[in-house]
Amino acid sequence: MKISIYSKEKENKEIILAKVAELVKKYNHEINNEDFDCVLYIGGDGTFLRAVQENKDKLDDIFFIGIHNGKLGFFYDYTIDELEEVFKDLEKTEKNISKHRLLKAELTLIDGGKETLYAVNEIRIENPFHTLVSDVYVDGVKLETFSGNGLIVCSSLGSTAYNRSLGGSLICPTLDTLQVTEIAPIFNKSYRSIGSSLVLSSDRIVEFVGKLTNVVVGYDHLTSHINDSTRIKIQLSDQTVSILHKSDYHYINKVRECFAE
Ligand code: NAD
Repeated sequence: MKISIYSKEKENKEIILAKVAELVKKYNHEINNEDFDCVLYIGGDGTFLRAVQENKDKLDDIFFIGIHNGKLGFFYDYTIDELEEVFKDLEKTEKNISKHRLLKAELTLIDGGKETLYAVNEIRIENPFHTLVSDVYVDGVKLETFSGNGLIVCSSLGSTAYNRSLGGSLICPTLDTLQVTEIAPIFNKSYRSIGSSLVLSSDRIVEFVGKLTNVVVGYDHLTSHINDSTRIKIQLSDQTVSILHKSDYHYINKVRECFAE
């Protein structure tokens, strides 16, 4: 198997990479950062998000293996001490690989131009300095006129990230959903919005419509500053990201380890 190594590590980088190289040789694989079957990423959750964005065009043909750097991460199954377990799991004919659909946002700019963005966790519109006002539609049906700091649409996989900090629900990633969650909504005589996060089935289309001036569109760790967008259409894309897990992986263990221990 051809393995690409993706690491933003600064500490012990040489030692870790030497250990990986030794195991790659022992199990008759090859390190190849140009043409590869999987990406072995070492770091924190942000490293996974970056590795996915940087390999966006290859996602149909590859899977990802996460080695976490000591801190507990949501996208990681193996610790650096468990490196050999990765290679044993790669030997298995029945690998425990989960597939997750990416979110896709299509931005319509005021000059008619278009921009398309993809995200693992969430797509968000934010204006922390001025009240952001946006109509929210689901499948072309108006849900609300939102006023506040911003709105996010997260995937099930991303529900444990920013969405969780905003009080959104955690959704088991084996369900394909979209979740719309508000950021600091204004509730008063002039402004009213739903207030609760809204979980939608995978075929729904969410749109933010309005004169979205000076809005930052965030997608995972990335941002795009949009001066004059009129419409942002968000849905689940057909593009998927595949992640290798240990054979005994269970989502509930991950939730407990990350948030309740
Ligand atoms: P980062 O890598 O430091 O990530 C920020 C935090 O989010 C870290 O603690 C990370 O472990 C956690 N995280 C990321 N994805 C997760 C997931 N799916 N489940 C559980 N935890 C997750 O910072 P970054 O590189 O800028 O990463 C971007 C991500 O950070 C965004 O996708 C967003 O979800 C998250 N974020 C969170 C907040 C917040 O919780 N208030 C604010 C901004 C961004």
